[in-house]
Amino acid sequence: TDKKAETPKNEGVSVLRRINLTVASGEFMVLVGPSGCGKSTLLRIIAGLETMTGGNISVGDNLVNNLPPKERDIAMVFQNYALYPHMTVYDNIAFGLRRRTKQGEEVEAKGFSQFGENLLVEVTRKLPKGLRYISEKEKSVYRIVKKVAELLQIEGLLNRLPKQLSGGQRQRVALGRAIARNPQVFLMDEPLSNLDAKLRAETRAQIVKLQRQLGTTTIYVTHDQTEAMTMGDRIAILNQGQLQQVAAPLELYNRPANRFVAEFIGSPP
Ligand code: ATP
Ligand code: MG
Repeated sequence: TDKKAETPKNEGVSVLRRINLTVASGEFMVLVGPSGCGKSTLLRIIAGLETMTGGNISVGDNLVNNLPPKERDIAMVFQNYALYPHMTVYDNIAFGLRRRTKQGEEVEAKGFSQFGENLLVEVTRKLPKGLRYISEKEKSVYRIVKKVAELLQIEGLLNRLPKQLSGGQRQRVALGRAIARNPQVFLMDEPLSNLDAKLRAETRAQIVKLQRQLGTTTIYVTHDQTEAMTMGDRIAILNQGQLQQVAAPLELYNRPANRFVAEFIGSPP
């Protein structure tokens, strides 16, 4: 991902200025900076959820500036992970996989998944009225959801509704939904900030492990110094809409580019 952008917000005040950020393929980039510096705005611009006044965003060799969010092959996980409350965990994870199916298949898919975990066997026996077969498409949806649920250790929760889950479990489902789409790029905006310290540490480790397994290029936004220093291959430090330094954690610590970086990272004076 490479982007340069200027965005007017607050009636013409630029939120981001001269951003030039390249994230290597498979890299875990952590984006940090004080509240209001533009972290969320930057992610939203990359994802296509916010318009910019100038600059380019590419994913791999493709310029994605003019593509709508859905066509950018980017998945975003927010702090307040909005799950669909009326859908089971299974259907929440499957959602992005099904969006592209035709209407006929959607109906079928719903009947299929309501049986949850043992479904491949179960469903063939208990197909809802009017459905005679399970499409190949839905079988592949099932396989992907199972795999993702195994990775995130939420296999036992597939039949539940979001309101029947804890905060950490919900967060994992939201991650699962993003992972299931197997995007080229993950953007995560403070995905752990609603969790307590213990769960935060656990989920943090899980995210890093997952990212390593999948090798998906990631930009992860956090306020948390520990998270930044332990999770990132590199850290990008943003202040007042401008990138201050982009470097590996140790290098930032040992060779901060300026006073702001030094203070932010807590380098010795
Ligand atoms: P935080 O760490 O608190 O989440 P952030 O770094 O994510 O902060 P942004 O949400 O990107 O910051 O906001 C950057 C600037 O843009 C802030 O000055 C904010 O007030 C402003 N801003 C954000 N969203 C809007 C909006 N929809 N309309 C106008 N100004 C906005
Ligand atoms: Mg933010």
